[in-house]
Amino acid sequence: MSVDILNDIESFLTWYRINFGDTLHLNTDIDPETIMAQWEQPAPAAQTAPAPQAPVSQKKKTPDVNDTFRVHGNHAELKALYERIRDCTQCALSGNRKNFVFGMGNPRADILFIGEAPGKDEDIQGLPFVGRSGKLLDKMLFAIGLSRQDVYIANVLKCRPPGNRDPLPDEVALCEPYLKQQIDIIQPRLIVALGRIAAQSLLKTDAPLGKMRREKHTYNGIPFIVTYHPSALLRSSGWKQYAWQDFKKILNFMEKPV
Ligand code: SF4
Repeated sequence: MSVDILNDIESFLTWYRINFGDTLHLNTDIDPETIMAQWEQPAPAAQTAPAPQAPVSQKKKTPDVNDTFRVHGNHAELKALYERIRDCTQCALSGNRKNFVFGMGNPRADILFIGEAPGKDEDIQGLPFVGRSGKLLDKMLFAIGLSRQDVYIANVLKCRPPGNRDPLPDEVALCEPYLKQQIDIIQPRLIVALGRIAAQSLLKTDAPLGKMRREKHTYNGIPFIVTYHPSALLRSSGWKQYAWQDFKKILNFMEKPV
């Protein structure tokens, strides 16, 4: 067996252990409760833990600009965009949101991760990927030597669809220009779509995730790859090996000279 293959196996097992614990699940669905129990263990030191949640009743209707940017560092252009669009009422989703979810991370990040829309926890906190799947995303980033301070994380939609339903085409059409403005400011070298819905919404296709994962894409002129949404990885253990392949692509990309 070549050294390369042994290195691959070793790094996969290390990544798997960080993300999913000591038990190796082969061709069987993982119990979400088991994953949750593993998440209760202390997070790795380099991981950025979201701030503790205040009770919902104490939440501000719209997060203070300093809350939203506390992990960003300051960036005048991004902040100005945030101020310009934070009270958007272009679509009906504005009526039910607790918070507008702009995005978070490094305004000069090489890698931009994009999910489909805020969920319940994101809506409450005004930050992307802070719920169960967000914790897993933190661990996946940690496994390739990154944290939230190194990347930028945003969603196609800035407001939560009721009941976490999929974004509607009209909503995407109205909200996507905001994402494109963020991309123009951040200028990432690589965009990673998290999940089928985010990828289909941006690529304007109904192709299945497996096909989109295997193909090369660009979005807004930037290399664009597709991988699983962390919540999908919690539901199906069989996809973890493919997610690892995708994260290896990210690693390889990071190692390329600019
Ligand atoms: S989802 Fe986007 S377009 Fe709709 S109200 Fe929120 S920010 Fe505006």
